[in-house]
Amino acid sequence: MNSLNSSKWSVFRERLDGWADHDELEVFVDQALKGKRMLEVSCHEVLHAMLPHFNEARIQAMGKFQADLLWKLGIGPGGGAQ
Ligand SMILES: [Zn+2]
Repeated sequence: MNSLNSSKWSVFRERLDGWADHDELEVFVDQALKGKRMLEVSCHEVLHAMLPHFNEARIQAMGKFQADLLWKLGIGPGGGAQ
């Protein structure tokens, strides 16, 4: 049962930078994000989509590693760090 009247759902009010929708096979990234943060969130959410069995801590570590590498190579929105 998936209704708000059940004990299975919690409601949180927070701003999300991005998310991966496994049902629709879509990745969303907040269009307000810029620069390295946009790169970090994009890497993070794509990893969630590709590796749904990985836990949040592993996705965080891998996403940060990828984003740092791409940024240092100058690959990213605005060209990354030059
Ligand atoms: Zn995550």
